[in-house]
This record gives sequence, C-alpha cells and structure tokens, in this order.
Amino acid sequence: MQTEESPHTSLTALQAHLHVLSDLYYRIPALRHIPPVLLKPSPISPTLREEFHKLRDVGDIIRSHPIQEALRVARDSLNLDSSQLNSNPRRENRKRRRLPSPDSPQPYVGIQRRSTSLFPPLEDDHDPLTKEALAEYVCQWNQDHKIAKTHLWRRTRDQEDGQLTTLRFIIPDVLMVYVTLALSTANAALVVETVTAFAPREKKFPHSQSDYIVYQTLSQQLARMVQSYPSVSVQSMLGVLCAYKGLFVDRCTVCERVLSTEGHIPPVVRIWREGQWWARHVGC
Ligand SMILES: [Zn+2]
Repeated sequence: MQTEESPHTSLTALQAHLHVLSDLYYRIPALRHIPPVLLKPSPISPTLREEFHKLRDVGDIIRSHPIQEALRVARDSLNLDSSQLNSNPRRENRKRRRLPSPDSPQPYVGIQRRSTSLFPPLEDDHDPLTKEALAEYVCQWNQDHKIAKTHLWRRTRDQEDGQLTTLRFIIPDVLMVYVTLALSTANAALVVETVTAFAPREKKFPHSQSDYIVYQTLSQQLARMVQSYPSVSVQSMLGVLCAYKGLFVDRCTVCERVLSTEGHIPPVVRIWREGQWWARHVGC
C-alpha cells in the first residue's frame, strides 16, 4: 500500500549518511600530524610509509560510494534549503556526535551546558606565552605541578627551533604526550598546533602514532579539542593533560564504567564542568 518512502526509511538513510560523514570528519584531524614532506614528489622514506598509507586510506574513504552519496544528498538538501541556514559543523557535531538508538534511555543532552566547556578559564595569568618566555614557564610549571613533568623536546640535540616548538608532557606510568606549538599570527603567542598521546615508555616521534588503541583514541579526542579551539594556549592544554592522571581509573560520568562496553576503552573525554573535570567515554 505504501508508495512513498516512509519517514522511518528516510530517517534511517539520513542517520547512515550522518554516521559515515561524522566518521570521516573525525579522521581528518589525524592527518594534521602527517609531515608535509609526504606531499612532495620525493621518494618516500620507509619511516613515513605508515603515514602514506593513512593518507591514502582517507583518500579512498572520501572517494567511496557511501561518502560520495552522503555528500551528494547533503549538497542537494542544502540547495533545496531556503532558510539560509549556515550551520557550524563543529558545533553541530559537538552537540550530537552520536544519534541515540531507539531503545537507549535519555541521551546525553549537555546537562548544565552553561557551565560546561572543553577548557577551564585561565586562572590568573592571562598574558600570552611567547617563545622567549617558554623555557622559564616550563621550569615554573614543573615546580608547581608534581603529578606531571614537561620539557622542551628536540629531535636531535643540535636541532634548531625553526617554526615549531614541541613539548613533551609525561604523567609517569600513565601517558606521554607531544604538544607541538606554533606562533599565533595575531599576537606572537604560542598556540597549540597538534597533540599526540603515547604510552609512557613508547619511543615514538611526535608525528607518529601510538601502537595502542587507547592512546590512538586519546590522540583523536585531543585533536578534536584542538580543532574546536584552534588557538588554545599552552597553559590551557597542559591543564587538560593533567586531567588524564586517572585515565585508567576514572569512571565515565555517564555510564559509570571504567572501560566502555564498545571497544573496552577508558573514558578519554574530559569536560570542564562546575569547576572540575568530568570523564566520559567517546560514545557515551
Ligand atoms: Zn561511559
């Protein structure tokens, strides 16, 4: 009897399109870690082979039928839309990264959104951190923070600074994180460019990726945060990283588990709410 597409079918199709596009959207930040030398027509060094495959995989995904179909539908839908809706994909994705399944209880709806943010407000020191002041800042930071250690990292002892500066942040027995900094064009302050997490004893370079899924997931989460706040300060990022001291013991504030039911990953999301950090699984 039904001749037209039912609302249920079109909703399912829309959910499928949103799912594949969201998936792709969250893969893109990981490409920011790939060194630009990969795009030059020079022979690929064996150490970059993994990055090359990663780049090619994302290219294949973009060209795949589900993505192309989802993009086509989105374009057609936008063309038909007369409301001049200029949506912000970052904000939309943050608000509802996962669609609720029909039998799930109340989905997470940003409880007390007003006091929730990705980064806490900076305490008393609002001065932009310049490159010249970084070494002294790191020294003072280490004196003030006992749970973690931070130091300037160089690939070799003689390496010249160049444009990028890298910090190595360590919480013993929990994680090691490379924070790559760049100069803001606006006020010459240092801002965070990329953040990549590793196991505490992994011997890896900043542009590589951890062998462990938990640190890969954490790197993706940190990349999302940086993408949402492209000019996030060094001070704010170090504050967030300290919140991962309980990475393997903090319970998710939504499902109250340490390990997620899907993937058995600890909660890698940290949200600043009511003056403290709340842990959450990516999918909760
Ligand atoms: Zn959870």
